[in-house]
Amino acid sequence: MPETDPDCLFCAIVAGTIDAQIIDQSEQAVAFMDINPATRGHVLVVPRVHCSDLYEISAGDLAETAALARQVALRIRDKLGADGVNLLNSCRPAAWQTVFHFHMHVIPRYEGDPLQLPWVPEAGDSDSIAACAAALRS
Ligand code: AMP
Ligand code: ZN
Repeated sequence: MPETDPDCLFCAIVAGTIDAQIIDQSEQAVAFMDINPATRGHVLVVPRVHCSDLYEISAGDLAETAALARQVALRIRDKLGADGVNLLNSCRPAAWQTVFHFHMHVIPRYEGDPLQLPWVPEAGDSDSIAACAAALRS
């Protein structure tokens, strides 16, 4: 896996060749504002090294990206007054991924904000849940 993909938007943001509102960074990860915020203060956190998604990222880069996401979440709480946060990662188009450089969405949540869960949780079928568990343990 190359360190940088010349066709990747987020590699260009990390390199500084495309403008972004960078708000925090570490040796291995960078945090910048999402240009289509789901709520006020929506931030994306990416590893500096190019990797397309959760299936490809190294454990070390994932840990560093998650650590920066947590730091950003605390900053959002303290500076913007968020009441909570959703961390979201989309892996592959089936899961709504549109930019193929791994990123964590840090989505601030405010009491009474209009964001809705995209599904209505319903009780699952216990046999089906048990079958999945068996498949995952094997
Ligand atoms: P996903 O759909 O999970 O792959 O998320 C991609 C995110 O990247 C979306 O929330 C977009 O709004 C955001 N995005 C796309 N282009 C840019 C950009 N140039 N700067 C900041 N965020 C971007
Ligand atoms: Zn990239």
